Amino acid sequence: MRKDRIEQLQSMLDSLSLMPNKALGQNFLVDDVAISRILDAADVRGQAVLEIGPGAGALTEGLLQRAKTVAAVEIDARMCALLRARFGNALLLYNEDFLKTDLSAIHRALCGGAFCVTGNLPYYITTPVCMRLLTSELPISRMTLMVQQEAAVRFFALPGARVYGPMSVLTQVYYTPSRVMELSPESYYPQPDVNSSVVTLLRNAQPFLSNLASLLKACFAMRRKTIANNLKGYGGKQPAMDALAACGIAPAARAETLAPEQFVQLCEQL
Ligand code: SAM
Repeated sequence: MRKDRIEQLQSMLDSLSLMPNKALGQNFLVDDVAISRILDAADVRGQAVLEIGPGAGALTEGLLQRAKTVAAVEIDARMCALLRARFGNALLLYNEDFLKTDLSAIHRALCGGAFCVTGNLPYYITTPVCMRLLTSELPISRMTLMVQQEAAVRFFALPGARVYGPMSVLTQVYYTPSRVMELSPESYYPQPDVNSSVVTLLRNAQPFLSNLASLLKACFAMRRKTIANNLKGYGGKQPAMDALAACGIAPAARAETLAPEQFVQLCEQL
């Protein structure tokens, strides 16, 4: 099956004289079993979906079969030509950098209501893409993301863990993360050097807090500093001390020891 997929992909790429671009993180999925499990986990039936980095369309094809509307943001114009040839106007295609694209405009074009996000994310921008999604006020109901294993750990990290940080807190405040499957390099063409994980993030009922991301940035700015010290520049020393006292957080505590709900409390106080 994998061999068939690789041949199919190669013939699509050859027809447009394309070669995978390593700098753009172009490792394409060629594993039928994985593709179908990812589509099941994405659970997009009858819904609006935004795909990040569709590449040659390994996931897009199934998304179009299942979802109500599909928009995709792909930075590589050559891949966009391939996608247009494959899917025509059925796909709302944006030849743009996801980090700069106007997400509100895409959201309006998609549906204007709740929507899902899927993406086999390019490794070189995993963190900024995830942070953009996690700090978006748009009504994202579910994300199904493929990221390198070491990045996936951060969605689940608990206080005290070395990799616990803003991405862990934002994920756990707004979403319930779960693991779908692990992918070895053989699931891709060309093969990357690392293993990947597929995770879903299911939105919970926590209302969006517009200051949470900037508060987390301040709290985790210097990991070895106390939270009181890190917060000095965030609205002034006294308001920070008052808010910490109101939340029952010791000024000498370090951000990496606080639970996600303590950051929510602190955010509401400040
Ligand atoms: N979804 C396809 C698959 O699973 O086979 C391709 C995944 S490949 C890992 C990542 C894709 O993201 C590539 O097609 C690449 O061109 C695209 N990409 C890289 N940087 C991007 C960016 N800043 N904005 C949008 N797409 C980007």
